[in-house]
Amino acid sequence: MDHFTLRDGVLHAEDVSLVRLAEAVGTPAYVYSTATIRRHARVFADAVAGLGRGAPLIAFAVKANPNVAVLSLLAGLGYGADVVSGGELRRARRAGIAPEKIVFSGVGKTEAEMAFALEEGIGQFNLESEEEAALLSQVASRMGRTAPVAFRVNPDVDAGTHAKISTGRSENKFGIPYDSAPAAYARVAALPGLAVRGVAVHIGSQLTDLAPLERAFAKIGALVAALRADGHAIAYADLGGGLGVPYDPDRPAPPSPAAYGAMVARVTQGWDVQLLFEPGRLIVGNAGILLTRVIRVKPGASTPFVIVDAGMNDLMRPALYDAWHAMRAVTPRGDLFSANIVGPVCETGDTFATERRMDRVEGGDLVAFLTAGAYGATMASTYNSRPLTPEILVNGPEWATIRARQTIEALIDADIMPQWTHP
Ligand SMILES: *Cc1c(COP(=O)(O)O)cnc(C)c1O
Repeated sequence: MDHFTLRDGVLHAEDVSLVRLAEAVGTPAYVYSTATIRRHARVFADAVAGLGRGAPLIAFAVKANPNVAVLSLLAGLGYGADVVSGGELRRARRAGIAPEKIVFSGVGKTEAEMAFALEEGIGQFNLESEEEAALLSQVASRMGRTAPVAFRVNPDVDAGTHAKISTGRSENKFGIPYDSAPAAYARVAALPGLAVRGVAVHIGSQLTDLAPLERAFAKIGALVAALRADGHAIAYADLGGGLGVPYDPDRPAPPSPAAYGAMVARVTQGWDVQLLFEPGRLIVGNAGILLTRVIRVKPGASTPFVIVDAGMNDLMRPALYDAWHAMRAVTPRGDLFSANIVGPVCETGDTFATERRMDRVEGGDLVAFLTAGAYGATMASTYNSRPLTPEILVNGPEWATIRARQTIEALIDADIMPQWTHP
């Protein structure tokens, strides 16, 4: 559920009218709801409370929404962070997330990023190859530190999601192959500067079925037992993120966090480890919208084009993964029409929806793209010299700009003309 509702014919974010907000900050703009983020964070925490040994660590996947205001909100709810770069690690620290609650994932950690994470004293490195383990061993040894590590294991399970957000098949770049994991652990346990402490798995994003997750987790359970039998002190299992959120109200809703928690309870019984979770989309997806204004409606061959002032550079998901976002008029006129919703960017891929049945809108109307809180603002670019979209956080009747709209001057000023281009 979320806190974007119609009140007296006007779509609101909590108690704030989106008409008023658009007047104040302009469009396009990302708008997030504090109450929705809090609610989702609590619902997930409740769903996994009591599982495993000790309290589970919930490490929010920072890449889903890295704004430090969002991170600090989650830090206040006890969340840690799953980071995939030195930059995300800095954001998590800036937001006040304790280093021991930070997990570092990703296939391409550099030497500099490893050194920085060791200096910060992060809780766990999720290693994705033996080559990476060897480098971390060198860096940690040189610094006189011990890096707490887990291997991300690729269970070769099809997550049943879009190919571009599927990560747990053997042909994907992520993790070490399941079958060679025991040998990899044996080699890495012998390296200086590393303390093997767990296993990690993450098979993909926007999962709408628990069965692939359960298959993956069952394989991880067998591996935990095998690694213990080999003498490794496996005290942590990181079960990743990936639980889907409802984008299309006409499709069956994805499994609830409670159903996910019940499945995890069943499959992890007897593991005797502390559990880590890395939800991203689930926490912030439905907590954000992209607020945009219709520039004009242009007749099409059969269906009109609604040209909005947000483009694929502001919200990449439809162009990148054929993602579906619900679209609602902020002041609905009471009737529907079929439209192609497109942005102003000079690419045919700059299409948000084709032949969509939606609220009828005209030039000047405001439109909200729903479920844009995850993988939205963070993926934005300045393609077509379009400055980065601002982000607004609403809290009841109040709101704050949590990232200002980039100015075109700032964008252009970043370019440098060397002398030989203008002799
Ligand atoms: C992206 C990612 C997540 C979060 O995935 P969601 O689908 O947003 O929950 C968690 N863990 C890792 C390693 C990731 O790469």
